[in-house]
Amino acid sequence: MRTRMAGELRPSDEGTRVELCGWIASRRDHGGIVFLDLRDASGVVQVVVDPSVAGLEAGHRVRNEWVVRVVGDVRARPDGTVNPELTTGEIEVATEELQVLNEAEPPPFPVDERVEADEVLRLRYRYVDLRRDRMQRNLRLRATVNRAIRGAMDEQGFSEVETPLLIASTPEGARDFVVPSRLQPGSFYALPQSPQLFKQLLMVGGFDRYYQLARCMRDEDLRADRQFEFTQLDAEMSFADGDDVIGVITEAVAAAAEAVTGEAPAPFGRLTWHEAMERYGSDKPDTRFGMELVDLGEVFAATEFRAFQQDAVKGIRVEGAGSGVGAGDAVMSRSQLDALTDRAKKLGAAGLVWMRVGEHGAIDSPVAKFLSEAEQLALVDATGAEPGDLLLLVAGERMLVNRVLGTLRLDLGRPPVTEGGLQFLWVVDFPLFEALDDHGRPIPAHHPFTMPHADDVSLLDSATGEDLLKVRAQAYDLVLNGWELGSGSVRIHRRDVQERIFTLLGISTEDAQARFGFLLDAFRYGAPPHAGFAVGIDRLTAILAGEENIREVIAFPKTQSGLDPLTGAPGPIDPAQLDELGLQIAPRAKTPEPKTP
Ligand code: ASP
Repeated sequence: MRTRMAGELRPSDEGTRVELCGWIASRRDHGGIVFLDLRDASGVVQVVVDPSVAGLEAGHRVRNEWVVRVVGDVRARPDGTVNPELTTGEIEVATEELQVLNEAEPPPFPVDERVEADEVLRLRYRYVDLRRDRMQRNLRLRATVNRAIRGAMDEQGFSEVETPLLIASTPEGARDFVVPSRLQPGSFYALPQSPQLFKQLLMVGGFDRYYQLARCMRDEDLRADRQFEFTQLDAEMSFADGDDVIGVITEAVAAAAEAVTGEAPAPFGRLTWHEAMERYGSDKPDTRFGMELVDLGEVFAATEFRAFQQDAVKGIRVEGAGSGVGAGDAVMSRSQLDALTDRAKKLGAAGLVWMRVGEHGAIDSPVAKFLSEAEQLALVDATGAEPGDLLLLVAGERMLVNRVLGTLRLDLGRPPVTEGGLQFLWVVDFPLFEALDDHGRPIPAHHPFTMPHADDVSLLDSATGEDLLKVRAQAYDLVLNGWELGSGSVRIHRRDVQERIFTLLGISTEDAQARFGFLLDAFRYGAPPHAGFAVGIDRLTAILAGEENIREVIAFPKTQSGLDPLTGAPGPIDPAQLDELGLQIAPRAKTPEPKTP
């Protein structure tokens, strides 16, 4: 139907006859001549129609978003009408034939993205929204990411294998989506939270190096960086340790970043989980900016100030947020400091101590009078504070102090997604367990198939309660600009160790056999040592596209409340279908609030 794409035309095409197809992006009807912007997947070109010419009468009739075919000659735009903002701005097409392929109603919002549109409206009419530059750019960028990742994985000897979507449950710490079985009424499939167990079985099956751009489903609350369904680069390799996995994934992710930005990303950093918590108060540190947590334990080792006689005292320095000489635009008022104190308390801290640093290290703070001169000097020295800076201090249990200051650090210093470049960071040596549940049983930090650190295996037999939380895992995360991009681990490949972990987690032998018997059985038949990883493609793509919200890089996402305003999902099903599945809808004790998108 066409010979060329609209957005590709250039002055070198002058005099060429072209046939173009697309949508009318805008029209300027000057009574005599009509100027149309014709949009196709490649961009926009100006088309000039003279409706007084026989056959071109439709020029007056066409409207925005009508679908047309244009035949005409490329010519230079007259002097003074060149549009430097358009890549095709030096030329236009003089129309000889104008064919309306389809009329269109006025769109629910302008496709021109200089006009903001409400998100629910955008999702309700996603097919119109997808015509906007932003979505075109983002989804094509996503295709570039996928292509680069596949290329890098293929090159490293990995084979893409598809794993099933209708499965038994795989625990990843979220709720399963379930699908009722028609042939086995009363039985349910789970949708995969990840291909974890299947990729481990592929290793037992001798596949050696597997990957998949896998769809995963987790029924958890949605956020800017989370949807029910998401895509991950899922990988597993045999006879490999954590460093091998880190090497392979670094290659693939760097290839994706380079394919998008045109340059290789800076070398990926590496921190232990412990260091990340101590320096940044987070297991996914945003290393695009400093404001690191400073341990003030030594400064206040002998302090008489009761509030600082704690497990840990730490602080952050907010440059120029104090007052007087040296203070800048970032100066914080008393009411802002009060709000920060409330925030720290909400996060669990007993309080927040603020100090404004003046000239010669003088400290202005409600608690200054409780601190000796030597402590004040040592504090300024330890934090490297300059006149005009603000210091924020928290005291208490060490991990709590870390988390509170880590959150304040992000509140006060985090740059927007488009700034600060790409800071990839590996966080290694995660703890095996993240906390104890109400029964005092440990909760896995990654998933229950993660191998404990070789030096800590013996602790598994002796440690109890809080001490179990000290056991390290052979588990690692990849972080980009403070977003967790993915996780992985060396796996347990021996039945006895796996059973031991299940027991610790409070999963009985019978329960383990019922839920994961197939995996434990597989371990009897020659399971190689193996390790793997998964990288979230939605998050990676969002950051590469400079988007704060992953919905902007997903063609058909759900709203924050899990609804699809386009198709109306989720919706009721036919009573006959329910019957066939052997299901009845029971009235709920408490009717949930009807959801608005
Ligand atoms: N299955 C894990 C996840 O989806 C990743 C991995 O351990 O490979 O988070």
